[in-house]
Amino acid sequence: MFSNEVLRAIRSVVGGGSKALHEPSFNECEHKYLVECLNSGYVSTVGKFVDDFELALASFTGSRNVIAVVNGTSALHLALYSLGVTFGDEVIIPTVTFAATANAVVHCGAAPIFLDCAVDDLNLDLTTLEKWLERNTKTLNSQLINIHSNKIIKAIVPMHTLGHICDMDRLATIANKFNLVIIEDAAEALGSFYKGKHAGTIGRIGILSFNGNKIITTGGGGAILTDDDQLATKIRHLSTTARVKHQWDVSHDMVGFNYRMPNINAALGCAQLTKIRDFVRAKRELQDRYVSAFEGIEGVKVFSEPVGCRSNYWLIALVLDEDKSMYKDLILQETNSSGIATRPLWRPMHQLKHFEQFQKTEMHGAEKMINHIINIPSSPCLI
Ligand SMILES: *Cc1c(COP(=O)(O)O)cnc(C)c1O
Repeated sequence: MFSNEVLRAIRSVVGGGSKALHEPSFNECEHKYLVECLNSGYVSTVGKFVDDFELALASFTGSRNVIAVVNGTSALHLALYSLGVTFGDEVIIPTVTFAATANAVVHCGAAPIFLDCAVDDLNLDLTTLEKWLERNTKTLNSQLINIHSNKIIKAIVPMHTLGHICDMDRLATIANKFNLVIIEDAAEALGSFYKGKHAGTIGRIGILSFNGNKIITTGGGGAILTDDDQLATKIRHLSTTARVKHQWDVSHDMVGFNYRMPNINAALGCAQLTKIRDFVRAKRELQDRYVSAFEGIEGVKVFSEPVGCRSNYWLIALVLDEDKSMYKDLILQETNSSGIATRPLWRPMHQLKHFEQFQKTEMHGAEKMINHIINIPSSPCLI
């Protein structure tokens, strides 16, 4: 039977099983840095590991500025907030994303506009985007106005789904034409490159996540990337309760956030980051093994990186053909029952009850792809 064939093919790659889709890998390096951090006494908002982690990330990604924060959601929130996204504004985001992207927009008091996804890369459908903007917006005093709500559309947040980077050249052309600022949700894409540029360094701001299931982890953590020095200074200030630097006085000059990454998390991050190239190599190798394992099976393919993107393959995915999509739930059931973690794609944002009131495009791509995608075990330790 088809579902058995799929189960056998996954097993031929992962062996006995894999309890999680993406497990972190630790060795002596993490132990050493964590002990060093504990011994220093600095486990909280100041300490050398935070600076080291930011420098190492800047060097790996090529971003001029990196600000480490408590998680990817807070990174998104600060990125939007620092660009002035506020009550009454609107922000375009993909419907196929993790809830954090939409939550951060709402945390700013703004309204998301949900955009359909393209079936070939699961990212923003740029054809739909351009058409939607042409039909539903006008420009007034170089601001993009939604002609239905009369609200300002302040930004667009492409999300690089499963580590595969959106066609940023084409998106940039559209964004320029319509005066849209790009904030990249690169939470899943550390180690992915688009035409030689690291994910998150192409838009005005990019964000990363180091949650436990991401390609590297700091326990919980995130980072904001930007080449704009002034913006970076502002974001850093906002992330540390907007506290004014002074030897002993405690004062603040605006409403700030307590979003700075603690030193103990950064210690873990410093250790993890030394291995990022190995993790990406292992995951690309794992992808290749899955591709070989599924070569002879009709009706299913392993999802592969789009043209122009060298992906980190954060989560590896199967794509079922139309006539096999009725097997999706059975495959999920059988794999999970036999100790192999598999998951469907997230439920798209426009289908969630609490986001129901927000605007959206037609959703042909998203509604189709949620029935065709199955994420399979993707941990680097499987290699
Ligand atoms: C993981 C993730 C985030 C951030 O999540 P945190 O758990 O807050 O670090 C944001 N967006 C996407 C698409 C993600 O996958």
